[in-house]
Amino acid sequence: MVSIFSLPRIRRSLPFPPRPDPEMPAPQCASCNKARAALRRPRSGQALCGTCFCAAFEAEVLHTVVAGRLLPPGAVVAVGASGGKDSTVLAHVLRELAPRLGISLRLVAVDEGIGGYRDAALAAVRRQAARWELPLTVVAYADLFGGWTMDAVARSTAGSGRSRSCCTFCGVLRRRALEEGARLVGATHVVTGHNADDMAETVLMNFLRGDAGRLARGGGLGSPGEGGALPRCRPLQLASQKEVVLYAHFRRLDYFSEECVYAPEAFRGHARDLLKRLEAARPSAALDLVHSAERLALAPAARPPPPGACARCGALASRALCQACALLDGLNRGRPRLAIGKGRRGLDEDGPPREAEPEASGPPASEPVPAC
Ligand code: SF4
Ligand code: ZN
Repeated sequence: MVSIFSLPRIRRSLPFPPRPDPEMPAPQCASCNKARAALRRPRSGQALCGTCFCAAFEAEVLHTVVAGRLLPPGAVVAVGASGGKDSTVLAHVLRELAPRLGISLRLVAVDEGIGGYRDAALAAVRRQAARWELPLTVVAYADLFGGWTMDAVARSTAGSGRSRSCCTFCGVLRRRALEEGARLVGATHVVTGHNADDMAETVLMNFLRGDAGRLARGGGLGSPGEGGALPRCRPLQLASQKEVVLYAHFRRLDYFSEECVYAPEAFRGHARDLLKRLEAARPSAALDLVHSAERLALAPAARPPPPGACARCGALASRALCQACALLDGLNRGRPRLAIGKGRRGLDEDGPPREAEPEASGPPASEPVPAC
């Protein structure tokens, strides 16, 4: 895959500042010169109407995919669909671009088993699949992981000091579930809807933990599919969250916007708050962090050790067990673990709680877990 340095830097769109005179109309769209502009894009300084903004957004995703050589013609692409705004926008944009890219799409949704949340989100995915005439496959944690659902994991960890870490368990298992679902539908590639803000939050979290290994694996637009894993990529990685929301708004996309019941407990929320404060002082902070991660990934000392195979499932792992099998092993023995292997500071050791990211124990590239 091509370095993201070769791709143009895209800065966040800013809404127009309050007009001194509310009666004064917004400027004309700089692209079509017909409609009134709805936003200004700092990257180009252009004031655009909704239609021209959506066209520009799609062109930029197309450029990201083509210039990064993310999805070759003929690829069967599994879109990780959660029903949320990011995966909804990703599926919609890729569906628009599919004829030009020569790819076919499959929606793969994961049912984590979260009562009162996931059922409604899955309903949104089913509506999208029906409206866009895309095949949908739902894979459930309970079927894949010996009956474990996220609610069962939360009950198992409640009161142990580990209950704040549901996203840690969920992220690891969801990555595995998405891989299984993608294989089930015959996909050759997996795409997820992580945007620039998600990636920046992950960089901040990994930096706060001093986790050079994850920082090293977190750069780039995806992972090439080492050790038999399907290649993964994030076509929206250079798009800001604000632009993703604007695209969904102007395209009138139907998505599920409620927050998961376990999300408020996640460490990611603190990184999000920090990112907002950074952006208040430096609007390009999110993309700067994404590009910084790429630079760190290029540093020779930060490269992860060569991967091996998990002794239980054969998936890629840098230790005896992959992270998913190690987490399930701990859950089944009544001793859920957050960190795996010696030398990793987790809840099994002294020190403050620490959450792990998916695939923390080794390549392929760690994947950020957005609030989903
Ligand atoms: Fe899983 Fe996302 Fe909920 Fe965390 S917020 S528990 S990762 S579904
Ligand atoms: Zn226009």
